[in-house]
Amino acid sequence: MARNTAESLAALEEYLTKHQPSIKLLTPSSPDFEGVRACFIKRDDLVPLAIARPQTAVDVQVLVKYCVQHNIDFVVRSGGHDCAGRSQVRGALTIDMRDINYVRVSADEKTASVGGGIVFRDLAKALEARELMTPVGTVASVGYVGWATLGGYGPFSSSHGLGVDQIVGAKVVKAKGELVDAGEELLRGIRGAGGIFGVITELTVKIFPLKGLFVSLIVFDSSDLTTTWMNYSAGYEKLAAEQDIPRALQLHLLGIELPNFGKVFAVAATWSAADHEEGKIWINKIAALGPCLMNNPEVKTVSAYCAFNESLLTWGSYGRAYTLSVKKYTPKLAEVLAKYTSSLPGGGIAISLHMLREPAPNEHSVFGSRVEHHMLEMIAATPVKELEAKGTEWAAGLTRELREADPENVMESAYISLLDNDDMDCKKIYGAHYETLVALKKKYDPDNVFKYAIPRLSV
Ligand SMILES: Cc1cc2nc3c(=O)[nH]c(=O)nc-3n(C[C@H](O)[C@H](O)[C@H](O)COP(=O)(O)OP(=O)(O)OC[C@H]3O[C@@H](n4cnc5c(N)ncnc54)[C@H](O)[C@@H]3O)c2cc1C
Repeated sequence: MARNTAESLAALEEYLTKHQPSIKLLTPSSPDFEGVRACFIKRDDLVPLAIARPQTAVDVQVLVKYCVQHNIDFVVRSGGHDCAGRSQVRGALTIDMRDINYVRVSADEKTASVGGGIVFRDLAKALEARELMTPVGTVASVGYVGWATLGGYGPFSSSHGLGVDQIVGAKVVKAKGELVDAGEELLRGIRGAGGIFGVITELTVKIFPLKGLFVSLIVFDSSDLTTTWMNYSAGYEKLAAEQDIPRALQLHLLGIELPNFGKVFAVAATWSAADHEEGKIWINKIAALGPCLMNNPEVKTVSAYCAFNESLLTWGSYGRAYTLSVKKYTPKLAEVLAKYTSSLPGGGIAISLHMLREPAPNEHSVFGSRVEHHMLEMIAATPVKELEAKGTEWAAGLTRELREADPENVMESAYISLLDNDDMDCKKIYGAHYETLVALKKKYDPDNVFKYAIPRLSV
């Protein structure tokens, strides 16, 4: 049994002070403790033993070795955006990676090596200073490693692939504290199953030239939400059947409550190619799929795009996100989404659909869904505590009605990042890669030292 007690904390403090003072240790009595422990999902009940902030890979090695030798439970976090609050574990030591946040661009500007705790904001800023980018997701404070290794949807998914597809190298601290450069076999597992094999101190990822992202938040007249959602989904499917929609165009559908607009159907459109005139034409085609209240295409940096999305959210939200993936926009899907947009309980609760168009196969990854699909996020997280139960009920209703109304369209595999331990079926999520994943876990972490990482496999 793990020994996470006041006595073991005192011993850890003494050890680090003497042997590895570079590691910052925050105990519950430290003035900064609550601020540093904050995660996107607020869990007042899950107070860690302490928070250790390593500055280097060597610091991480020391921490892992010490915890294993002294039987101390630990969990790793970066951005703190796990949608079910799983990177908070009561009484465990949190290894907070956020101080390891460097970005080193290779001489040929084809790859960058990034620290295991970097968040989108810092990564995007460092790259855009050199007119470069690597795919990231939507919200500035999300941790890059947590996002990229478990899947990684975002504005570049259709043009450049998912987060997992960008990873070309990793440095990992394994269960005995050894720091290794992951070989191809281990990399395959990391591309889809994150930190279950060890603590990732560095990822090397593909980078690309980018002068600016062309973006527009298109808000449609939503006085009749059913007609709006239905017309859009039928219009989009027709457009996709008749024309070759460029991969640079990414459409992120939202059922959301916006200041000055109320409950609306909106599309966050992004264009990642250099020709912004062509981007404008395509964004305008999308805006023409319904009566449009707002459409102002503009060039933004990736970091500004992520910062804008962050401004729509509140840190410290109760509840969680739910998800399922669907094959395409259908009238039944549109009808259910319209119904649940009109019944949004408020407090920031929202619907979001990320698309993955014509994904390239990647046998060097264990990520499950490699067919065209839309990942539906039911964001039932809200800073308003009183709305938590309502949000959960709303998401359960939406899930149930979608499964009943459109069963053929709902995929078996779903996005692991948005599930919780008791509603994830790893066999379905990883599909044909499941056995490979289990074998890799048995080989690289046979004693399940990284037991709190996602996915929590029972091997
Ligand atoms: C507001 C919000 C917006 C989001 N937007 C998107 C989006 O646009 N696209 C998308 O695909 N997903 C999105 N997500 C989901 C998000 O990508 C995942 O929840 C992701 O795992 C969060 O990573 P994090 O580092 O912020 O979270 P954390 O809670 O810090 O970590 C999540 C998991 O990653 C592991 N981990 C993190 N860093 C390391 C490391 N260095 N070594 C080993 N393990 C590590 C942790 O142990 C933990 O299990 C969003 C979530 C939220 C709450």
